[in-house]
Amino acid sequence: MSTPGIGETGEAAGAVTDGTAAAGAGRPADGMPLLEVRELTVHHGQLRALDHISLRVFPGEVYAIIGANGAGKSTLLRTIAGLHHPTEGAILYDGKDVTRIRPERRAVSGIVMVPEGRRLFGSLTVEENLQVGATFARNGPWTIERVYELFAWMKDRRTQRAEQLSGGEQQSVAIGRALVANPRVLLLDELSLGLAPVVVQRIYGMLPQILATGLTVLLVEQDVSQALRVASHLQCLLEGRTTLDSRPSDVTSEQVEAAYFGLLGGPGGDGGTGSPPVRGGGLGGVVPPEEAPLWSGSTTSSRGS
Ligand code: ATP
Repeated sequence: MSTPGIGETGEAAGAVTDGTAAAGAGRPADGMPLLEVRELTVHHGQLRALDHISLRVFPGEVYAIIGANGAGKSTLLRTIAGLHHPTEGAILYDGKDVTRIRPERRAVSGIVMVPEGRRLFGSLTVEENLQVGATFARNGPWTIERVYELFAWMKDRRTQRAEQLSGGEQQSVAIGRALVANPRVLLLDELSLGLAPVVVQRIYGMLPQILATGLTVLLVEQDVSQALRVASHLQCLLEGRTTLDSRPSDVTSEQVEAAYFGLLGGPGGDGGTGSPPVRGGGLGGVVPPEEAPLWSGSTTSSRGS
């Protein structure tokens, strides 16, 4: 069993990144987060999809949420965007409580999402899709022309219908549509979904240029290696609970894998590294698994098998 993306590249045991991967500005030791989620619990009917999730996203960083199918990643992003109502907890944006604010108002104030599956208007052209994104745009650096500069192929094909584009091209248009709204926080839901690895890398390769315009990114990904390449902070969810909350450079691939699958690592249940487990909210560490249903045995995590 191997975590998607982990083990495929044959990393040696040790920190999962070399510390150079984070595209964001890193984590300030103090200062105010631009986006904060406090003890968020969300139900879909009887199902508790998120269970007291907390996170703090600082200006200019790339915060990645990873986790397997059904972990609650999309629910988290959609709740931040205002598309689900939490049962408990709060969402703060720029220091203000936006938990009860309608989704449109959140978007206008700068919380903009690229949804899972792109959700373009297939019968509209590339440019018309971008115009939709610009309808209630904030003032800022992003215009349709600027998006055409970012994605060089797009201008020549601006009159083509979105449904005629490849998956990667559609994803680029979806990103462009979000950018022209001039977000402060860009929520990216599974950019890699259904795309070839080379296309995924190309799309993620645009992140530094996007961040350079002052954006902050919160992304969810099943493709862990991709998330690790770009993230300045990492949180892993499993069945709606936090199993890892750390800087990528502070955890090993074994710890990430254990958190992803809910495996107890080595002695002390710390993923086998000997480092003390730390509950979510702080920097660094695997969250102790006392309540997570899948952490049921003392299984040593296996890499790349
Ligand atoms: P995936 O990568 O498969 O999208 P995810 O980590 O994003 O997974 P969610 O889509 O947030 O997970 O789903 C979390 C849980 O909530 C799953 O058990 C899912 O079946 C359930 N769920 C999600 N949306 C709804 C909904 N609208 N109604 C009922 N259950 C839902």
